[in-house]
Amino acid sequence: MSDIAKDGEIDSAVYKTLLESTQAIPWKIDWQTMRFAYIGPQIEGLLGWSPASWVSVEDWATRIHPEDRERVVNFCVAQSKAGTDHEADYRALTRGGDHVWIRDVMHVVRNENGEVDSLVGFMFDISERKKTEEQLIVLQNELEALSFKDGLTGVANRRRFDSILEVEWANARRNNQPLSVIMLDIDHFKQYNDHYGHLQGDACLKQVAQVLNSAATRARDLFARFGGEEFVLVLPETDEKAAAKIAERCRNLVFKEQIAHAASPAGQILTVSIGVSSITPSHQDDPFRFIEEADRRLYQAKQHGRNCIVKSS
Ligand code: GH3
Ligand code: MG
Ligand code: MG
Repeated sequence: MSDIAKDGEIDSAVYKTLLESTQAIPWKIDWQTMRFAYIGPQIEGLLGWSPASWVSVEDWATRIHPEDRERVVNFCVAQSKAGTDHEADYRALTRGGDHVWIRDVMHVVRNENGEVDSLVGFMFDISERKKTEEQLIVLQNELEALSFKDGLTGVANRRRFDSILEVEWANARRNNQPLSVIMLDIDHFKQYNDHYGHLQGDACLKQVAQVLNSAATRARDLFARFGGEEFVLVLPETDEKAAAKIAERCRNLVFKEQIAHAASPAGQILTVSIGVSSITPSHQDDPFRFIEEADRRLYQAKQHGRNCIVKSS
């Protein structure tokens, strides 16, 4: 039979050895005096502060990162007063002036009368986990950015367009301001692919996207790939006249690239057709119909022989 079974309990030296050989750092605070009755020697390895330097809860509080201190101290005091076990994550100050992420798990010990006697707990080093969490957040942000980007051209994609249009429509309606969209479609692009091959077609789409991306310059202007060889511009606080100018700039930008299109029935150079629509939306208006209007004008531009702009008559 072992000593443990014989005695019916582990002697305190065994407890101490066990506690001081774990990764977690044990501690005890006397509730009456608010002073440390004990803190594991491992604390010095983690934070650099010797066990003897942990005297009162003040020492604990001052070694919490200023941005975390108030939240953690208030929470822990309230939970302890209520007699509830609790845990808190915070950045603990090291002796060298750095910070280490800690999870402090606290248990409220009561005496036989049910009064709070002390707090005991463990501090865990969670810096690795926090690092992973931070990396995950960075990755998540990158992923989100990617999910709004067109894979081929690198400009904003349809999803981005949909969400921005919704926002700008609401803005325009609320502030009673004009909103314009410009829809653009490359002329005879099917023949371009057929003649030059799909890969050169892709390269051409990239080039067109790149030049069109520079057509509108205000911070809230959005240029996006609408789908296939169609692009769209959302222009907040822009009326018909200003939008028509930008549309003309778009047409010229593409024309100036002088992209050869030997198979085009419309000429030897790649061109775009454009539909422009402007509105100061009211409650009866609908963004879907607004886009449809621009699309209808784009179709008219095709019918008028392409390489031209149709705006409100
Ligand atoms: P229109 O002047 O009337 O617009 O004629 P179009 O040939 O441009 O129009 P249509 O809609 O018939 O054809 C669009 C073509 O665009 C067909 C499709 O293969 C091509 N296309 C769409 N997306 C891509 C792409 O990502 N890469 C390439 N290379 N071609 C694409
Ligand atoms: Mg098309
Ligand atoms: Mg086309």
